[in-house]
Amino acid sequence: MNLTVDALEIRRTVGTHLLGPIDLCINRGERWALVGESGSGKSLLAQALFGVLPPGVLQTAGSLRAFGAPLGAGSPEGLRGGRLGWVPQEPLLALNPLLTLGEHLALLPAVHRNEAPDQALTRLRPLLDCLGLPRDPGFLDRLPHQASGGERQRICLAMALSCDPDLLVLDEPTTALDAPAQRDFAEQVRLQQRERGLGYLWITHDLALAALVADRLLVLQGGHLVEAGPTERLLRSPRHPCTARLLEAARRQSTPDPGFLEAPSRRGPGCPFQPRCDRVQTGCRNWAPWRGSRGDGLRCEAPLDAGPRP
Ligand code: SF4
Repeated sequence: MNLTVDALEIRRTVGTHLLGPIDLCINRGERWALVGESGSGKSLLAQALFGVLPPGVLQTAGSLRAFGAPLGAGSPEGLRGGRLGWVPQEPLLALNPLLTLGEHLALLPAVHRNEAPDQALTRLRPLLDCLGLPRDPGFLDRLPHQASGGERQRICLAMALSCDPDLLVLDEPTTALDAPAQRDFAEQVRLQQRERGLGYLWITHDLALAALVADRLLVLQGGHLVEAGPTERLLRSPRHPCTARLLEAARRQSTPDPGFLEAPSRRGPGCPFQPRCDRVQTGCRNWAPWRGSRGDGLRCEAPLDAGPRP
């Protein structure tokens, strides 16, 4: 097992439930996507994996492990940013405005491989060429704001790959890009994944993009996993009404229901999809149990394949 999340729960310090319990396991070579609407808690999982939960938010239960070692405060040197790479959502916020692009690229090799900057940049040159980053000598001397959005995101991808990771976590990496740049970035990641045999977890609200980049899907709703399984099966016959709604939004090429979810502190008991579900029944006031295995299952009282609306 390479990346294992067991019964992870995240809450505000005041007790409000935000995420979990989440169970998942990702191995080298596997391509997973975590899909959900805005506010469903997707990015909290990435933040928990990298120990950067926002102030006032805590992991209250469960464990996170990578390559057999715990992730968190006591995480061994060389794990996060080394064997486990991270591509952030907003490169302009993630990059230090005072460091050049070249200085950014040299950061992780210095920490994890004890490499001097010149040595690291020479080693990374073929990767930068492969990612289509400019070869002119002044490019790596630019500050982040002097590069385009697509270039900044490819620098973040190069940083994540700079220490030859086994797994990547990509946290909505194409949010700040236009449609052609999104497709280009997705193609670059897929190419690197094939060449290096990487595994990844790609977090996105866009089911169409998830279908392009992942073999297996995890669908998150109101902080809970509600459906998981092979991408092809979930697209052909979604069982959870939330998955069906994400699919409908992807077909219409629209953003799925922004603002649909109640704020966590205002959610009633049970399934948070109730206000929008035309299959709701009494049992939905309690959370349905997860039926299936880790990475392949469903949490719903009246799934779409259970016949006509109850
Ligand atoms: S049937 Fe019930 S559990 Fe299933 S999505 Fe609708 S409200 Fe949620």
